[in-house]
Amino acid sequence: MLKGKTALVTGSTSGIGLGIAGQLARQGANIVLNGFGDNATPRSAIEALGVKVDYHGADMSRPAEIVDMMKFAADRFGRVDILVNNAGIQHVAPVQDFSPERWDAVLAINLSSAFHAARLALPAMRAANWGRIINVASVQGLVASVNKSAYVAAKHGLVGLTKVIALENATTGVTCNAICPGWVLTQMVQKQLDANAAAKGWTNAQATHELLREKMPSMQFTTPEELGDLAVFFCSPAGNNVRGVAWNMDGGWAAQ
Ligand code: NAD
Repeated sequence: MLKGKTALVTGSTSGIGLGIAGQLARQGANIVLNGFGDNATPRSAIEALGVKVDYHGADMSRPAEIVDMMKFAADRFGRVDILVNNAGIQHVAPVQDFSPERWDAVLAINLSSAFHAARLALPAMRAANWGRIINVASVQGLVASVNKSAYVAAKHGLVGLTKVIALENATTGVTCNAICPGWVLTQMVQKQLDANAAAKGWTNAQATHELLREKMPSMQFTTPEELGDLAVFFCSPAGNNVRGVAWNMDGGWAAQ
């Protein structure tokens, strides 16, 4: 379905971004990976799906590096048809203890980077009259949790940015939507499990049970592949008139 299209997925060296890149590649899309750490292993995993893959290591907190990444993707593949703004970080502390540097970093990576990349992707998408911008927000873009002020603010902001981009392109073939996962067992969540286990003297299994019990009625993690399939749906013809939604895949978290 996506043969001949190019998807750039930020923060795709692990976790949700890699899962989304994999599901888009299974539909034939060429992939530009981004993110920190080892990129050879994710690159080979996507290449094994029979598509072209490249990698750019832009730090998504640095606008000049985002400019370079978007130019790299256009030079390599002609244009970016599908932009998935997924890179994100977490920092947990009550507001009075929240370091201003961490606040700036969370806002830059989880929110401003999506603006910087979308700004540069839109002209070619509009010229082709086809494009998909998919912002990986969070259920915490819809409801709040304690100790996550920067993350909750950034993700609510990302849902707002999604709606504006959707509206500004509503008469074109360019759509913009947000995906709002509940807990997904990635490095980001494992760090929170480890911190909770250490603080409370729990095993990993106890920490996992408590994390799910507190927020997710399904008592099951959402998987990166399920989120990737939602991204595929947004890219399908059935998604042509899905515009500005914030679609939670959260095991019932926000329904409570
Ligand atoms: P993860 O830590 O496994 O992956 C994050 C990715 O972002 C990695 O590839 C990392 O290298 C990259 N990254 C981090 N900082 C970067 C930077 N400055 N520049 C470029 N890349 C950077 O986390 P994840 O759980 O897969 O999270 C992916 C997205 O999903 C995030 O936006 C996160 O907020 C969101 N999310 C995660 C969950 C969850 O439960 N895991 C739930 C809701 C939303």
